[in-house]
Amino acid sequence: MSVLVIADHDAGALSPATARVVQGASELGPIDLLVIGENTENIAAEAAALAGVTKVLTCQGAVLADGLATLLSTLAVRYHYVVASAGSVGKDVIPRLAAKLDLMPVTDIVKILGPTRFERPIYAGNAVQTVSDNQPRHVLTLRASAFRPAASSGTAAPIQVLDSPVDSAVKLLADHRTQSDTPDLATAQIVIGGGIALGSAENFALIENLAKKLGAAVGATRAAVDAGYAPNDWQIGQTGKIIAPDLYIAIGISGALQHLAGIQGAKKILAINTDAEAPLVKLADVALVGDLFEIIPQLIAELDRLGVKR
Ligand SMILES: Cc1cc2nc3c(=O)[nH]c(=O)nc-3n(C[C@H](O)[C@H](O)[C@H](O)COP(=O)(O)OP(=O)(O)OC[C@H]3O[C@@H](n4cnc5c(N)ncnc54)[C@H](O)[C@@H]3O)c2cc1C
Repeated sequence: MSVLVIADHDAGALSPATARVVQGASELGPIDLLVIGENTENIAAEAAALAGVTKVLTCQGAVLADGLATLLSTLAVRYHYVVASAGSVGKDVIPRLAAKLDLMPVTDIVKILGPTRFERPIYAGNAVQTVSDNQPRHVLTLRASAFRPAASSGTAAPIQVLDSPVDSAVKLLADHRTQSDTPDLATAQIVIGGGIALGSAENFALIENLAKKLGAAVGATRAAVDAGYAPNDWQIGQTGKIIAPDLYIAIGISGALQHLAGIQGAKKILAINTDAEAPLVKLADVALVGDLFEIIPQLIAELDRLGVKR
């Protein structure tokens, strides 16, 4: 079964999500990985080294959904599966492609049970649906955090340059980026989340400080984002980002269902909360019951004393 995976990349580097989608999609068959963009030579070389990738296809153009869906609809006839990460590009382009091909997309897959059977969360992660997709061709998005990253194969797959550039009616005029020296929330190994209890944007510096010591990404609840304490792109949960770190440190967060929907993939949870009855305290592997404004400075001082710096 042939598989075409759309690579996610940003700022000249392959996104960590791509290696995870490649690992997941390799259960379906050998993979051709499509890299679209300008000056993508280094990205294509990185992509060619991933285990499971048999060929890298590169194409000039901006990754804008209308042009990408048109290109994919012509490429799709050669493949049984077209797969993207369930990130912003995948969420935009896969439904358009499915409409062009008159297929039903299967989105947000967290487990591949067989060539035509997939698991995906529904009801904000409170139930798991098994989908049987008996269409002649499959158009899928995979939740990257649900899969391990593909290793490097040690060899380089061939790179083929497609001579049909992506043509889009939409033009990208500018790219406004949030500057951050912390890891990407969606793929970070340690995430520290802050809740409304932080009380102000200035106080969020406390957990940013802790995050720097641990090499962690920083996230927030919707209540904290709505209060203006944290930027929108830090929001974790049903209407925010889905995370799957090895360790999630939840600080001053009650554990509302909509927040829990975003952290189900976390392997261990440490909760810091004054309320021993808070749902997240009960769910956590380890809980520190107490005032975050006392506990966090103590934690930072102890990490300093031990010389911990990642
Ligand atoms: C349609 C919809 C979608 C939503 N999507 C999301 C989403 O994607 N993500 C999300 O997070 N929420 C989402 N929400 C909001 C969600 O329901 C909760 O309101 C929100 O998660 C609560 O945030 P919180 O834990 O910061 O605040 P609270 O629920 O108010 O909890 C604050 C916690 O801090 C503790 N605390 C207080 N002071 C201290 C202190 N000094 N030290 C330690 N602990 C302290 C309290 O005991 C409490 O447990 C959504 C809601 C709706 C209706």
